[in-house]
Amino acid sequence: MRKIKRIVRICRTTVLLAALLCLSARAAPLDECDAGRHRYAETQRVAATAMEDGRVEYTCGVCGHQYADTIFATDHLWGGWVTDRRPTCTEAGERHRTCTRDQRHDQYGAIPALGHDYKESIVNPGCEQAGEKTFACTRCGDKYTERIAPLKHEYKEAGKLEPSCLEPGKKTFVCANDSAHSYEESIPAIGSHDFDEWQVETPAGEGTEGTEARKCARCGLVEPRTIAALPVPTTEPPTEPPDTLPVMDIVLVSANAVSLGFWAFLLIPYLVCFFYIRKRRRIVEERDALRKEADDLYGYE
Ligand SMILES: [Zn+2]
Ligand SMILES: [Zn+2]
Ligand SMILES: [Zn+2]
Ligand SMILES: [Zn+2]
Ligand SMILES: [Zn+2]
Repeated sequence: MRKIKRIVRICRTTVLLAALLCLSARAAPLDECDAGRHRYAETQRVAATAMEDGRVEYTCGVCGHQYADTIFATDHLWGGWVTDRRPTCTEAGERHRTCTRDQRHDQYGAIPALGHDYKESIVNPGCEQAGEKTFACTRCGDKYTERIAPLKHEYKEAGKLEPSCLEPGKKTFVCANDSAHSYEESIPAIGSHDFDEWQVETPAGEGTEGTEARKCARCGLVEPRTIAALPVPTTEPPTEPPDTLPVMDIVLVSANAVSLGFWAFLLIPYLVCFFYIRKRRRIVEERDALRKEADDLYGYE
């Protein structure tokens, strides 16, 4: 048993030694030297600059074997950026890059947010209705609107109908922003004609009327009128016109009216008296009849 334990211990030691040898062999070239192991010493050094690698050379003092180590440039030599997360319109993305001189060097950075890519669309304003500008992002659909103030009517004179003597004229105004908007303004008529001189058409004769007319220079209206006939010369003396004032008639009518009033004035009291007396007489007659009847009945004598 003790023998087996010793064998195990030897094996373990051998494995450890082998591992140590392997490690030391990686640090230095594997070539064996006459002295067993190289005895290297630094023989040359080129210092690294910011952009260029430096170099250190080692030479074995026993066999003269050389090897060199690179001293990396003091600045990183970055590779291209690799995107880890794409940026959006409003959020920054992420990226990284690796140093090509030393893979252990990484640099992380942000990719700035893209900002919205707005495209504009317009609803034109009317004279009274407001318009709208819409900005919509082509990437994320974000949108906002801006009001466009109404244009207001811009009326310009588009036509004019001159007034005539009696007919009113008008001015037509049309909106420069929208031809559907229009209004009219009335121009009052002049109110009178601009007549030329009277022109005789048919001269008046003896006993016959003539005609003449005048024309309006503005509207062309023709106004006719007759010319009085000339007097016809006669041999008979002109008859006296009848007396148009019947003085006697007036006197007679007045007298009649007065007498009629007078008679009416007399007649009314006469009639009143006549009817009163007739009524009284009838009452007396009735009374006498009743008295006579009573006397007959009771035999008074
Ligand atoms: Zn050597
Ligand atoms: Zn680096
Ligand atoms: Zn956007
Ligand atoms: Zn308008
Ligand atoms: Zn006229």
